[in-house]
Amino acid sequence: MTIIGIDLGTTNSLSAVFESERPVLIPSAHGRYLTPSVVARLEDGQILVGDAAKELRVTKPHLCASRFKRLMGTQEAIQLGNQSFTAPELSSFVLRSLKSDAEKFLSKTISKAVITVPAYFNDLQRRATRFAGELAGLEVVRVINEPTAAALTYGFYDRDLRKKLMVIDLGGGTFDVTIMEVFERMLEIIASAGESMLGGEDFTDKMASNVLMKFGLQSEVVEHKYPLQLARLKQKCEEAKLKLLATEAVEISLPSQSGDVDPSKQPVSIHRDEFEKWMEPLLTRLMRPIERAIGDANLDVNQLDEILLVGGATRMDCLQKFLASRLKRKPLCQYNPDEVVAMGAAIQAALIEDNAAVEDMVMTDVCPHTLGIEVSKLFGGEFIPGYFEPIIHRNTTIPVSKEKQFSTVSANQTEVQLRVYQGEGRRAEDNLLLGELKVDGIPLGRSGAPFDVRFSYDPSGILEVEVVVPQSGKTHRAVISHPDSRMNPKQVEQIVRKLQKVKFYPRDLLENKLLLSYCERILGEVPIHLREELNGMLDVFENSLRSGDPSFYELARNQLRIWLSSHGFTFDEGSDG
Ligand code: AMP
Repeated sequence: MTIIGIDLGTTNSLSAVFESERPVLIPSAHGRYLTPSVVARLEDGQILVGDAAKELRVTKPHLCASRFKRLMGTQEAIQLGNQSFTAPELSSFVLRSLKSDAEKFLSKTISKAVITVPAYFNDLQRRATRFAGELAGLEVVRVINEPTAAALTYGFYDRDLRKKLMVIDLGGGTFDVTIMEVFERMLEIIASAGESMLGGEDFTDKMASNVLMKFGLQSEVVEHKYPLQLARLKQKCEEAKLKLLATEAVEISLPSQSGDVDPSKQPVSIHRDEFEKWMEPLLTRLMRPIERAIGDANLDVNQLDEILLVGGATRMDCLQKFLASRLKRKPLCQYNPDEVVAMGAAIQAALIEDNAAVEDMVMTDVCPHTLGIEVSKLFGGEFIPGYFEPIIHRNTTIPVSKEKQFSTVSANQTEVQLRVYQGEGRRAEDNLLLGELKVDGIPLGRSGAPFDVRFSYDPSGILEVEVVVPQSGKTHRAVISHPDSRMNPKQVEQIVRKLQKVKFYPRDLLENKLLLSYCERILGEVPIHLREELNGMLDVFENSLRSGDPSFYELARNQLRIWLSSHGFTFDEGSDG
């Protein structure tokens, strides 16, 4: 049974499969490798995923959801039309789309996947990712860290590597740092740190708010009053941010709500130096996790042999210069930073399948956050509850099993409600509550009766808690791995039923929808004298789609494409494929 590897990103997602002794990227319905992690719910209720949904985000943002990876592990829902969806539900739509692309590419049913997550995701976020996989009809055989997946790709191709590496992964929405040692195809993760609310999209947002200021406007006001205008401006800033790699300066004109240029405002010019100055506070934020990872690894920055860059946002020139100056060496970007994680996920899948091509590879990982329980502490003869006592410290190599002894705090205490937390806070309430376990069977007697708590944590992020009461021999066990500990099976069942009713936009018509959405987005930018012509062609195309007759709509589609290219519009379908 083939297992595919999936990089489920904030901005883009992609999948790969291990075939003919190497990882192979899987193309989407549009022939591209990257599928934008954007979901739209059309007026007729159909769900659209990927490029076509991304195009719609500019003209109809109220129908579209993006960046929902940032909501993983929370119960926040996004309203799309008259229906609302949680982050795992929206992610499941993206995963479904990748699954069907893989099935088409491989001509077989796919039901198993390895999915990558930011190293710094906590257990709730990891469980939410697994749950999204299940909702998409995928058994998630392993959840692995994105930088670990990237390192697997480097380790796979560079067999003689013997180095201490730092992987810096800045995707669309999350930031991770991982330090590892690679020695003859053995990959040992030493430390990881990160921030789950910092990514390339923050750089775009920062640029948009500064550009608005140049126009004499405030982003909060525009966001509140003219969300469409802000969505269009962000799209322009995203394009400008990428252009600033190759050019010294870019010009941005203020779009109106409909996409026309706002005639009351002169275009503004943004020089690369100015852009870089705006980005400084965000770049500085990168240093905290980097320093924490170096500290946890017990290393000096000079002991690192190489710095590898992963994630689309690491392409930014200012980021590379910043890291080079702070870390005193030039970072490397040997493989496509967008693709290296999915390829690593496919290599991990090959490891699980015992594929002969990877039989000499070994990998060890660490747990990114401290795991422990809530305890009471004795102060001046009084027990004060609410303190966090670590059992497994962050950056311990996994799989790991650790035991600590605790004792009761009052006489004749026969049971203890054990609360399991994850995090670095001194007080339990500052950490994430993962689950609870009732420990009974403690014999009557004086306070201080002992009980042993053992935590076993494995590479899939499954935490097993075992408590033994030595005096009675009673043992309690709990596996903390439910998709969402705050949800009961009935609620899960309700979600499954809700999603079963969802209708997806047909895969073979996606290309048409993408072209239509693209034309609707640029309509406002087309010179007035050509607008009517394009509008007329769009009417014909839309009508031909309604007919359902391919010979009819293919003709209209080709005419539209010819019109676009002859008027200088690049509809870059399949450009990265
Ligand atoms: P990923 O999730 O790894 O696909 O990264 C997506 C993020 O990378 C988005 O925020 C993009 O704006 C950003 N990105 C991609 N290419 C570039 C580039 N050439 N310059 C700056 N940012 C980029």
